[in-house]
Amino acid sequence: MLNKKSVDDINVKGKKVLVRCDFNVPLQEGRITDENRLVAALPTIKKLIADGGKVILCSHLGKPKGEPKPELSLAPVAKRLTELLGQEVIFAADPEVVGPNARAAAESMKDGDVILLENTRYRAEETKNGETFSKDLASLCDVFVNDAFGTAHRAHCSNVGVTQFVDTAVVGYLMQKEIDFLGNAVNNPERPFVAILGGAKVSSKISVIDNLLDKVDTLIIGGGMSYTFSKAMGGKIGTSLCEDDYLQYALDMMKKAEDKGVKLLLPVDNLIGDAFSNDCNIKVAQKGEIPDGWEGMDIGPETEKIFCDAVKDAKTVVWNGPMGCFEMPNFAHGTEAVAKALADTDATTIIGGGDSAAAVNILGYGDKMTHISTGGGASLEFLEGKELPGVAAANDK
Ligand code: AMP
Repeated sequence: MLNKKSVDDINVKGKKVLVRCDFNVPLQEGRITDENRLVAALPTIKKLIADGGKVILCSHLGKPKGEPKPELSLAPVAKRLTELLGQEVIFAADPEVVGPNARAAAESMKDGDVILLENTRYRAEETKNGETFSKDLASLCDVFVNDAFGTAHRAHCSNVGVTQFVDTAVVGYLMQKEIDFLGNAVNNPERPFVAILGGAKVSSKISVIDNLLDKVDTLIIGGGMSYTFSKAMGGKIGTSLCEDDYLQYALDMMKKAEDKGVKLLLPVDNLIGDAFSNDCNIKVAQKGEIPDGWEGMDIGPETEKIFCDAVKDAKTVVWNGPMGCFEMPNFAHGTEAVAKALADTDATTIIGGGDSAAAVNILGYGDKMTHISTGGGASLEFLEGKELPGVAAANDK
């Protein structure tokens, strides 16, 4: 369990509460195309409204690189939150985020009112955790609540810097839920505990593999990263993704798995293509037998079966990263099969943000999973065993 104070441990009646949310939603021409992150933030916001707080919301959106970019304004979020909450969310449209609009709105708030500040990354100091912007944010509030798991692995003004200038800094329900699920899964799992890793690169998941080998009963590695393992074992991988700098690392991890008695499952066959395209020629190749000019694009049918069987008897499963180039329909089958296996198992299933979360939701299995993390990078760093700065900055219980 998380040893940080939460919104349940404080009294916010009549107080100005600055809440860092993760409203980093995809937008198309000003329209929100996936509102999961807004919905996920509602429990904390509703609780603070019900308790009579004066709720000041803030978030980043995209990467405006320290200057106002109208297409990355949070205005559409204020509009949608107004609908979702059934009460007006006043939008403080200051290009400097904490400006005359925000100050005036904050001054005239009544208990239970809600305002939303402009995109925190309009300020260049935000991502540098600078003092001036941290102080500006703190000057608006009496209490700070961090509910943005998606940015918890970063030390920015709006989630870490601000806590130095307020007396009370706590976490919200979403943050608590994310940490409880991921933390329990990794540190106190019901066994057998199976982790499934995929995605493009070994190099982005080095510490995850290393850390998980200390915790899991079975580690499954699919996706682009599996070809580095295949080559390290002397296999032919054609033009498949490979990081030659990590061949020794792959061998070290295989040795570690053996020493620890962890079952390490790698693809035994692959779906390969003669070009990086959905419409290329496609065939199945056995492991380590990918011809020149061909490239591994997905796990093969035999591998699908082995991976899905490993999940059947598991009691805890954590999944991060697709099994192949799932954006191309012809190479989405392996990722879909794993998603379905997770939907069908009785195990506690935790999906670590990013592509795997998107795949699960698109396939309509979202409500079959125990927990889908709202943070890709943050959940990965959690799986690496790192302390997240955004969590560390909250007051201890
Ligand atoms: P990551 O961000 O590391 O989780 O990687 C996700 C990306 O890996 C997705 O865009 C996939 O298309 C890509 N990917 C997965 N498997 C392969 C593969 N065999 N070859 C090339 N890219 C892949």
